[in-house]
Amino acid sequence: MRLVILGGGESGVGTAILGKKNGYEVFVSDYGKIKENYTAVLALNGIDWEDEKHTEALILNADVVMKSPGIPDKAPIVQKLIEKGISVISEIEFAIQFTDAVTIGITGSNGKTTTTLLVHHLLKQGGLNVGVAGNIGKSFAWQVAENKHDVYVLELSSFQLDGIINYRPHIAIITNISPDHLDRYDYDYNLYIESKFRITKNQTESDYLIYDNEDEAIQNWLKNNKIKANKIPFSLTTKPEKEGAFLEDNNINSTINNEQFTMPINEIALEGKHNIKNAMAATAVSQLLNIRKQTIRESLTNFQGVEHRLEKVLKIQGVQYINDSKATNVNSVFYALDSMTSPTVWIVGGVDKGNDYDELMPLVREKVKAIICLGVDNNKIINSFNNVVDIMVETSSMSEAVEIARRIAEKGDSVLLSPACASFDLFESYEDRGKQFKQAVFNL
Ligand code: ADP
Repeated sequence: MRLVILGGGESGVGTAILGKKNGYEVFVSDYGKIKENYTAVLALNGIDWEDEKHTEALILNADVVMKSPGIPDKAPIVQKLIEKGISVISEIEFAIQFTDAVTIGITGSNGKTTTTLLVHHLLKQGGLNVGVAGNIGKSFAWQVAENKHDVYVLELSSFQLDGIINYRPHIAIITNISPDHLDRYDYDYNLYIESKFRITKNQTESDYLIYDNEDEAIQNWLKNNKIKANKIPFSLTTKPEKEGAFLEDNNINSTINNEQFTMPINEIALEGKHNIKNAMAATAVSQLLNIRKQTIRESLTNFQGVEHRLEKVLKIQGVQYINDSKATNVNSVFYALDSMTSPTVWIVGGVDKGNDYDELMPLVREKVKAIICLGVDNNKIINSFNNVVDIMVETSSMSEAVEIARRIAEKGDSVLLSPACASFDLFESYEDRGKQFKQAVFNL
């Protein structure tokens, strides 16, 4: 069998190693440059590869093709493969054939990484031999090749899910759904929602779907479609009919298999309402896998948090600086502002993704004392919030933004970087933006 891999990044190289180990003839092709540490690994394993081109003759003779999630279906080479009827799958779909591990698949528009790392933390503290993969760290295929773990927590983007055929997570989580990446879905929100729900399509009666029961898109989809998995809702407001989690008198209450778990939310290390939801989802998974209640409670208390997600950087002269650089859409900013308990100097801006700021207005009115626009084109933000806040400043330099924030903020205030936009106008990535923010804060 000839396995062709499009994209020589982490998932591509991992898949190549796994394929080779299982007797495939493997070829890796990348239209860009493959990093040297990866080409070294390919060479070491005797795997053929090319970069900065796609040689059709070497690709179109594949029996199966693994495509990196970053390559859109519309790419000409992918179109040609589809026309020829060659199956184009994702890394997860390929790798899952070679492991009996239990997998927990986590998708959603926001909160995937946080929930994935939280679930991983809880299960690890509970003594399971558990790995984390998907969009995080070492690729799933690579870990499967090394036969590393009995359980995997997988962060799955909609692009990963588009490439599944038989993959069936034992436990699936859909954290929430709001419009994102619509450019890859013909600007049709329904197609994007469909893509998220692909996570449930192969599940059976012995599997579980854990989901946000307050999310409109999820509720509507579940009303109109049947799924086989057992449904476990979580919610801040509504008590589940049978199994599920909700918030009662400032306690998380989660009932699974007739076992009840209760914990005060002020003991949870992560802050903000959205993180209560993430904690509920992670708790439900842990209960399903029989982790002790005491361990769940302790693990939710000592979880370290995730860089660039409402990350507390420093308190300087009574002002708390918070790095939420990963907030690249309006919905995640909503939760960030909602979690602010002090007057906030808000640093926002970047590449607009078709944002609609209306839902933020009440929160901005209530909590934001000044807006610092940090982007090449700030017109939309200025027009949206001009009449809502008293102080509005523009800059295209992170260090200047932080310096201005320092001057405006008073003891007891917060300075929040939560951009609602992509980072590519001024930064390499959201990580770069977050790191520059932290450096500027340290420089103060
Ligand atoms: P993803 O991996 O889905 O992009 P992250 O965990 O990286 O999600 O978080 C992205 C942003 O969304 C961060 O700003 C974070 O604070 C916020 N966030 C985290 N969990 C949720 C949630 N359940 N709902 C809404 N926003 C969230």
